Amino acid sequence: MTGRDAVIGVVRAEADTSSKERSVIEQDAGGGERGTDRFREECGVFGIYGAENAARLTYAGLYSLQHRGQESAGIVSTDGGEFRAHRGLGLVSDVFAGGELDRLTGHIAIGHNRYSTTGRNLASNAQPLVVNFREGQLAIGHNGNLVNALALRREMEEQGSIFQTSSDTEVILHLIARSKATELERMIPEALARCQGAYSLVLLAGDTLIGVRDPRGFRPLCLGRRGDAHVLASETCALDIVGAEFVREIEPGEMVFIDTRGVRSIRFHAPDPLRACVFELIYFSRPDSVVFGVSVDSIRRRLGRRLAEEHPADADIVISVPDSSNSAALGFSERSGIPFELGLIRNHYVGRTFIAPEQITRSFGVNLKFNPVRQILEGKRVIVVDDSIVRGTTSRSLVMMLRGAGAKEVHFRVSSPPIGWSCYYGIDTPNRRELIASSHTVEQIRKYLHVDTLGYLSMEGLRSCVERPDDHCYACFNGDYSVRFGAEMDKLALERTPIRNGA
Ligand code: SF4
Repeated sequence: MTGRDAVIGVVRAEADTSSKERSVIEQDAGGGERGTDRFREECGVFGIYGAENAARLTYAGLYSLQHRGQESAGIVSTDGGEFRAHRGLGLVSDVFAGGELDRLTGHIAIGHNRYSTTGRNLASNAQPLVVNFREGQLAIGHNGNLVNALALRREMEEQGSIFQTSSDTEVILHLIARSKATELERMIPEALARCQGAYSLVLLAGDTLIGVRDPRGFRPLCLGRRGDAHVLASETCALDIVGAEFVREIEPGEMVFIDTRGVRSIRFHAPDPLRACVFELIYFSRPDSVVFGVSVDSIRRRLGRRLAEEHPADADIVISVPDSSNSAALGFSERSGIPFELGLIRNHYVGRTFIAPEQITRSFGVNLKFNPVRQILEGKRVIVVDDSIVRGTTSRSLVMMLRGAGAKEVHFRVSSPPIGWSCYYGIDTPNRRELIASSHTVEQIRKYLHVDTLGYLSMEGLRSCVERPDDHCYACFNGDYSVRFGAEMDKLALERTPIRNGA
C-alpha cells in the first residue's frame, strides 16, 4: 500500500473543525499509523567490488539501509561472467529468507532497497533491474526520481521501445542501450545528459562496478574501502556494518568506475548549483550516518537547539516522537534546560513482523506504533518534538494519546519549517492539497492538533543549522523547484502511458 493510494478517512473532523480543515483531515492514509502520514523514504543502494562474499556483504549493507525502502529488495552478483540475481517484494530479511544468497556467488555485487517513488509496488519494479544488450549484461539500482521520465519514455515508445516496468529507472537503461558509443565511459554520460532530476546510481557491467551521482547531488552516495574491496553506499551506516572505512562522497556530476585497475573518477557534467536534499538531514537518513559530509545526529541536535531558542515553552519535560526526532528533542532539552524523558515508546515490529490488515490499523491507529508512558506524562506540561508535520493526522492522534495518558499541557515543536509543497526528486509525498500547511495557518494547525502551543523552526533557523545553506534543496518548504517538471509527473505517471488501438 502506498501513501497515495491508501487514502482512507479514519480521523473524523470534530464539531469545531471547519470544512476546509476537513478536506485535509479526512484524507488520512492507511489508518493513521505514523509511517503513512510521513514523507516516505526513497531507496537505498549498495555496491561492492573485490570481496569474496560480495552478495552477503551487500545483504548486510541493505539491512542497514532498510529505513530507506521497505517495499522490495534485490541483489545482483557476478564474478565478471554471468549475472546472478534475486529480487522480491518485502523486507531484505524476507526476500532473502530462503538461502538465495548461496546462489549469488561472485566478488562483485550491487543491491537495492525500494520504496516506490515512480511506479507501483510491483515485483516487476523491484531493483536492481537487469537487461541484456549489445555490450552484454547491465544491472542498475537507482535512488532518486527522474522528472522527465514520462516524456523520455513516450518518445522511446513512439520509436518502438518496449518497457517491462513502470519505473523511471528503466528509462536510464534504454538510454544507455541506445547510445551509439561503444564504451560505457561515453554511453552512460550520453544517456544521463537526457535525464533530469535526482539519481544516485549503482551499476554493474561485465566486471565493472559503477557509481553515479546527479549534477545537483540531490541524494547521497559515498565510497568506502574494506581491505582490498571498494564499497558504494547511500549512507555511511552501510559502510559501518560491513567494516568498511569511509573514503569520500561521490561528487555531484561524478561517475566512478571500479575494476581491477582500482577506482577511476570521471566528471560527466559541469558543476550545477547543488541541491542536496535537506530532508535527508531532518528525517530520512539514519542519525549514525554521515551524509553530505556532516553527522546527521549533530545536525538534528542543532535543529533542536535552534528550535528551543525560537519557540521556548514553560514545561516540565521534553519528549520525542521516536525514533526520528530523538536527536532534535535532545538538542531542545539541552538548550532549554528542560529534562528529556521517554514519554512515548515505539513498537519497532509494526510493519515488520506482520502487515496489519486494514481494519486493525483503523481500529488501533497510532496506538499500534506508539504507547505513552503514563508514569512519565501524568500531570506534566509536555513539550513534544517532532521532525515534521505532513498531513497532521498522526500528530493529532499522538496529542490525543498524550492527553489520554494524563499530560496537563502539550506544546508541539517541529524541527523543520511547515511543509507546503510536494517533492518530485525521489521522495513519495502526498499531493500538495493533502499537506496541511499548504492551506492552513500555524494557528489553524494548532487548533486542529489540540495543542496548547505550536512552533515550527523557521527557514532562517534551518539554514543556520546546515553547513552550506545555499547547497541544499528546500523545495518542499518554499516551492523553489530547481529542476522543472511536467504538470503530469507523479508517481503513477508511467502507468498511464496511453495504449492506442491500432497505433
Ligand atoms: S523537495 Fe524536500 S524532500 Fe524533496 S529533495 Fe527537496 S528538500 Fe528533499
